[in-house]
Amino acid sequence: MEAHSYDTCIVGAGAAGLSAALFACRRGMRTIVVSTDLGGQTASTSEIENYPGLGRVEGPELIELFYREASSYGCEFILDTTVASITEENDVFSINTDSHALLAHTVILTFGKAPRSLGIPGEKEFAHRGIYYSVVSNAGDFFGKRVAVIGGGNSALEASLHLADAGAQVFLIHRRDEFRGEKILVDRLEHADGIQRVTPYIPTEFVGDDHIQALRLTHADTGEEKTITVEAVFPAIGFEPKADFVKDFVACTPSGLISISAAGETSRHGVFAAGDATAVPYQQIVISAGAGATAALSAFFYLAKKRGLRVPRTDWGFRTS
Ligand code: NAP
Repeated sequence: MEAHSYDTCIVGAGAAGLSAALFACRRGMRTIVVSTDLGGQTASTSEIENYPGLGRVEGPELIELFYREASSYGCEFILDTTVASITEENDVFSINTDSHALLAHTVILTFGKAPRSLGIPGEKEFAHRGIYYSVVSNAGDFFGKRVAVIGGGNSALEASLHLADAGAQVFLIHRRDEFRGEKILVDRLEHADGIQRVTPYIPTEFVGDDHIQALRLTHADTGEEKTITVEAVFPAIGFEPKADFVKDFVACTPSGLISISAAGETSRHGVFAAGDATAVPYQQIVISAGAGATAALSAFFYLAKKRGLRVPRTDWGFRTS
């Protein structure tokens, strides 16, 4: 395997990773981003209305802007590639995928989270045959069709509104009567046409033959069972950490999130982290983007110090260790 040497290797290309890439490149760092996909959770978000300054923007559109901006400053990318392990030898990190072994002087971990599974019968069997984890690219395919969205957070509310806008007949299934999503989305749901709330119901089984045909549910309080016929189901029940490959490399919380300082430093010198893969209280695109910038600046100052370079600080006197 051919080895390349970078000032920083960013693992993950969502809002945090692409923002880190922009800040690293603008500081003159030779930067590469390695990621299984481009855009992470942001790319699978239909409409984003809380990224300041942009009004309403589609997730893929925002990611395209991030990507083009980072690329324009010279960032390199290896996409559709999963990092299997990261090791350190003599202060240099080796980032290993099945096809590449990259060498870097710093690493920034921004690989986000993976969609949480319901863990009920039929979920694996009907994946991509009626069960989808994103509505962004294919909402229009469900015009006039019966679809179910599962969950009560922002993702489920946004997915329901987006599908209803696209003309689908939506059943929003949630295990409680209250939604945890933003008030503005709950209010919109109240007035939306084409969305039927099915609460408090717990999904118990996906049924079908070649393709999904129905969803079995149990009432959360009474135990009453019912089946609704659907042509597609969009589980939107949150995301979970996927940091197993670094859990022996950097300190993680018991729930599997990377522990970081306010400057985005992990427990290992030279390794920084940002975004939803880290233990942060809020998961929003703007917060991830800001944290990515923080991690990149910390990586830059870490490397400059290590190389004995005197770099003027322009960042309000904030100091990294
Ligand atoms: P979330 O906020 O964690 O909500 C997950 C929902 O799924 C909850 O309503 C939860 O029910 C339900 N749930 C979890 N496990 C379940 C199970 N096994 N069976 C049935 N239901 C289950 O996840 P999210 O909506 O994906 O949002 C994740 C984060 O991203 C949040 O911080 C959110 O604010 C953020 N986000 C922001 C935006 C935006 O600002 N535009 C858009 C999308 C997401 P309970 O409520 O009963 O726990």
